[in-house]
Amino acid sequence: MAQSEVAKQTKAAPTASVASSTEAPPKGNLYTIVQGQLDKAAKAVNLSREVYTILSQPKNELIVHFPVRLDDGNYRLFKGYRVQHNNILGPYKGGIRYHEDVTLDELKGLGASMTWKSALHDIPFGGAKGGIKFNPRLHSKGELERITRRYTHALGGNIGPESDIPAPDVGTNGQTMVWIMDTFMNMRESSDKNAMRRVVTGKTINSGGSYGRESATGQGIVHCITEWAKHRRFNLNGSSFMVQGFGNVGSHTAKILAKLGSTLVAVGDYKGYIANPEGLNAHKLAEHVAQTGSVESYKHARVIGREEFFATEADLFIPAALELEIGETEAKNLRCKVVAEGANGPTYPEAEAILAERGIDLLPDILVNSGGVMVSYFEWLQNKRAERWPLEEVEQRLEEWMKRTFGQVQDFAEELKVDMRTAAYAIGLDRIEKAYSERGIFP
Ligand code: NAD
Repeated sequence: MAQSEVAKQTKAAPTASVASSTEAPPKGNLYTIVQGQLDKAAKAVNLSREVYTILSQPKNELIVHFPVRLDDGNYRLFKGYRVQHNNILGPYKGGIRYHEDVTLDELKGLGASMTWKSALHDIPFGGAKGGIKFNPRLHSKGELERITRRYTHALGGNIGPESDIPAPDVGTNGQTMVWIMDTFMNMRESSDKNAMRRVVTGKTINSGGSYGRESATGQGIVHCITEWAKHRRFNLNGSSFMVQGFGNVGSHTAKILAKLGSTLVAVGDYKGYIANPEGLNAHKLAEHVAQTGSVESYKHARVIGREEFFATEADLFIPAALELEIGETEAKNLRCKVVAEGANGPTYPEAEAILAERGIDLLPDILVNSGGVMVSYFEWLQNKRAERWPLEEVEQRLEEWMKRTFGQVQDFAEELKVDMRTAAYAIGLDRIEKAYSERGIFP
C-alpha cells in the first residue's frame, strides 16, 4: 500500500471526538491506526520504499470455518482467523484471541504490532495474531475444548514449531494452549510428537510451559514503569495506580506493583468499574475474579462509572483490556503522570497527542507489554533443548532484557527528538530493513 493511501485511511478512521466517556469511544480501525504509526516511524528513519510496501500488508491472512457440536447436541459453525504478518526475522509469533468482536482488520493490526515488538526487542520471531469470533464466557469447558481442537485442526499445517507459534491472548489461557498442543501433536507421526510441543507457548507448567510465563507480561510492564520512575526521579513506593482490565495482564501488573508499595485505587473490566481511595487488595481481587468472573461485585469498593474511572486521580494508569479504549475524552480526563500500555493498541492517535500536550508520559505497547513474548521465547528454547529453567533465571533474563530495550528506546527518542512509540517502531524497523537489504527479495 502506498504511503499516501495509508495516510488517507488513517485520517478516515473514526475517532473518539464525539464520544462521551460514559461509553468506550466508537471503535476505529486498529489496522489503519497501526499503519499510521508505521507511517510516522518510517518517515523518521527514512525507511526504504520497498520495505515499507512489504510491511504494509500481512504475508498471509487465513480464515477458516468449522462446525462444533455443542452440549445440547446442536452444531454451530465458527469463524476462525490466523494473520501471519511478517517472518523475515524468525517464525511467525502471536496470540490467539477468543472474543465476539474479533475482526480480520483487528488481527491485522495486532499481527503487525507483534512484528514490531519482536524486532524492537531483537527476539528472533516475526509477527502474527489469530482468533475465533465468539464469546467464550457463553460456553462450557467441554465446548471450549472442542472449539479449540477443531480450530487447531482447521489451521492444520499453517502453524508449526518452526513456522508459526501461537500463545494466549484475550479470552485464552494456558489450558487453551495445551489443547492446541495436544491436537497438533495428535495430527503428527508418533516419532515427531515431542518435537511438536513448542508449537505453542504460554502452556501450563505440567505440559511444557515455562516458569514465570503467566506473570511475564505484567512483570515486564513493571520493569518498564520502574525504569520510567528512575528517569523521572519518581518514587513508586507510596504512589497510586489504576488498571483497566483485570485478566492475565492487569491482575499480574497490579500484584507486582503492590509489592513495590504502589496502591491500586481503581479498576474495571467488561462488567464495570470500582474504586477505593484507601486501596484495593490486588491478590484478594484476583481471587474474587477467579470465583465470579468480574471485579464488579467486589465488596471492599465503591461501584463507579466509566467516566469517573477515567477521571480518578492516580499516578500510574495501566490499560490492560482491549484496544482503542483511550479516546480524546478519556485523554482529557485522565489525571495520571504516565500511561503504560499493557493492552495492545489502547490509545487513539488523537488521544496520544492530547496526553503529550498535557505532559502525561506514554510508554508504548510494543515496548512495555513484551514480557509475554520474551518469556514465550524462553519457553520455546527450553522445549527445543529439553530444559527447564528455574524461575529466578527466567526472571533475571526478563528483567535485563526489558531494561536494556527500555534504555535503547529512551536514548533513541532523545536522539531523534521523537516520542517513545516512534522511537520503538524505528528501532524495530531498522532491524527488519537491514535483514531485507542483506537477503534481497526473491527471486
Ligand atoms: P484476559 O482475557 O486475561 O483479560 C482481559 C480483561 O479485559 C478482562 O478483565 C476483561 O473483563 C477486560 N475487558 C474486556 N472487555 C472490556 C471492556 N470493554 N472494558 C473494560 N474491560 C474489558 O486478556 P489478557 O491476556 O490480560 O490481555 C489484555 C490485553 O493485553 C490485550 O490487549 C492483549 O492483547 C494484551 N497483551 C496480552 C499479553 C499476554 O501475555 N496475555 C501479552 C501482551 C499483550
